[in-house]
Amino acid sequence: MTEHILKVSSLHKHFGGIYATDDVNLAVERGQIHAIIGPNGAGKTTLLAQLSGQIRPDSGDIEFGGRSIVNYSMARRAREGLARSFQITSVVMPMTLLQNVMLAVQGTDGHSFRFWAPVSEDRDMRDAAMASLAEVGLDDRADRVAANVSHGEQRQLEVAMALAMKPRMLLLDEPMAGMGKEEGAMMVEILKRLRGDKTILLVEHDMDAVFSLADELSVLVNGHIIATDTVEAIRNNLEVQRAYLGDAHA
Ligand code: ATP
Repeated sequence: MTEHILKVSSLHKHFGGIYATDDVNLAVERGQIHAIIGPNGAGKTTLLAQLSGQIRPDSGDIEFGGRSIVNYSMARRAREGLARSFQITSVVMPMTLLQNVMLAVQGTDGHSFRFWAPVSEDRDMRDAAMASLAEVGLDDRADRVAANVSHGEQRQLEVAMALAMKPRMLLLDEPMAGMGKEEGAMMVEILKRLRGDKTILLVEHDMDAVFSLADELSVLVNGHIIATDTVEAIRNNLEVQRAYLGDAHA
């Protein structure tokens, strides 16, 4: 039986005259990877920001695990198990990978600005952080300073930081951005391993990655979802092809 962990109904958000989110309806099945694709400026980031609680919609509802979370703060949503991947800008570059993940663990219980020293002595927190690093294959580099690892490893660190919050669902905004071929392939493998255990909503421009990962795809154009289907069906969808061709010739 299909179970939708996330349901978005009639979501609207405008910025002045721009309808960044225009009547979005979306249902994501538990354990699946659901990708959102669409031309630049289609409203993908704005949609993710509303799901994570970073920005408030003008109207509409977001249900997670069967209850409305639309009025919850970002922190509350994260506690409920809906976590947005941290951006590289939130990685603290002079700290080690382990310390960064420990900070993320700490953030979940509302004490992100606690003094560092007593925290580093917290063995449980350390173990939890190490487990998250292991999930993305970074446990052997836990003591490396974030500034000294590759861009790809920094992006893996972002995912580990999100996983440290023990989410049921991960919101990932372009996890392959700026990656080379090998790094991208590594991220694809990491996400494949998470499938089933975690539900993932993936916004990504790398179509090869999207096509190899997504169970379902939604196509966002001018703030509106014009199609939701399997990879195969979307590839053959004329309206989708037109939307992209239109974008390419704009
Ligand atoms: P990209 O693929 O280029 O990252 P996107 O699909 O993520 O684009 P958004 O960044 O969500 O698209 O933007 C959707 C539309 O809303 C764009 O027209 C953008 O200019 C506009 N927009 C987004 N945020 C704001 C804001 N804070 N104020 C005004 N307009 C905004």
